[in-house]
Amino acid sequence: MDRKLISVIVPCYNEQEALPFFFEEIDKVIAEMSDCDFEVIYVDDGSKDKTLSILRERAAVDNHTRYVSFSRNFGKEAGMLAGLRESKGDYVCIMDADLQDPPSLLPQMMSIIAEKGCDSVATRRGNRDGEPPVRSFFAKMFYRIMNKISKVEFVSGARDYRLMSRRMVDAVLSMSEYNRFSKGIFSWVGYKTEWLTFDNVERVAGNTKWSFWGLFKYSLECIVAFSTAPLAISSFCGFIMFLTSIVGALAIIIRKLIDSSSSVSGWASNVCIILLVGGLQLLCLGILGQYLSKTYLETKHRPDYIVAETEKDKK
Ligand code: UDP
Ligand code: MG
Repeated sequence: MDRKLISVIVPCYNEQEALPFFFEEIDKVIAEMSDCDFEVIYVDDGSKDKTLSILRERAAVDNHTRYVSFSRNFGKEAGMLAGLRESKGDYVCIMDADLQDPPSLLPQMMSIIAEKGCDSVATRRGNRDGEPPVRSFFAKMFYRIMNKISKVEFVSGARDYRLMSRRMVDAVLSMSEYNRFSKGIFSWVGYKTEWLTFDNVERVAGNTKWSFWGLFKYSLECIVAFSTAPLAISSFCGFIMFLTSIVGALAIIIRKLIDSSSSVSGWASNVCIILLVGGLQLLCLGILGQYLSKTYLETKHRPDYIVAETEKDKK
């Protein structure tokens, strides 16, 4: 049987504390899976700490290690994309550097692919221990809404940690959109995916890069990228208000015909209606603007990231 090459992609942003632990863990996995070849591609996402120098040192002594370093911080989505583009493996796995995606699950993921003949094994957290309750609440709401308004399936607690076959990676790479939301893209390309649930692990060292506001913006981006429901909802609101105004106008005309002396009073209610209509218009314009701004960014065709250095530059 010919040996399979597995590419492991590790996006890293300011991970100097976590990387030494990660190296130790991934080495164990590589030793355990001696029937496969490995390349581990670290994507340094414009880190401001010693991440890049740690990776350079590692690449000099370890022949599994490759790295790509960005000219600035482009975000995890760009990091994953760069890793997928660089990967040459028959199977490709994406995992975080902070050991929240335990590398020790990799052998199990490989055997699931072999047994079930699927194209991908994805992971999800079985619980959200160690996460602030408010964040868990909003996360659950987000998944519920997203599944209602989008045709693509979003699995609650899904991580970016997954193993994919080459043909699935090629399918993911064939999607050339600029506003990337990988969880949606993995689901959109289809192929048979098996889910593996594991208990939430806290990050081994360093800090999370997500703030509540950051997550909120990320979820809005996801909605715009994978659903046009907000546009339909705003058209629907407009339609309902139009109907209401017709009914209101008819009521006024009929009242005038029946009793020509009656005049309409109610300055306060008038102001409320004007504010309501004005507010709704602005809201709908804003929604439209969100889609337009995304379209604007797509049409610029900017590169997703700029590479400043790879391990080949140092050889
Ligand atoms: N990451 C990245 N670029 C960023 C932010 C994060 O490459 O701009 C990487 C980070 O180094 C880590 C992974 O993405 O390997 C997940 O980040 P983090 O642990 O902060 O997110 P969380 O696990 O809290 O969702
Ligand atoms: Mg993490």
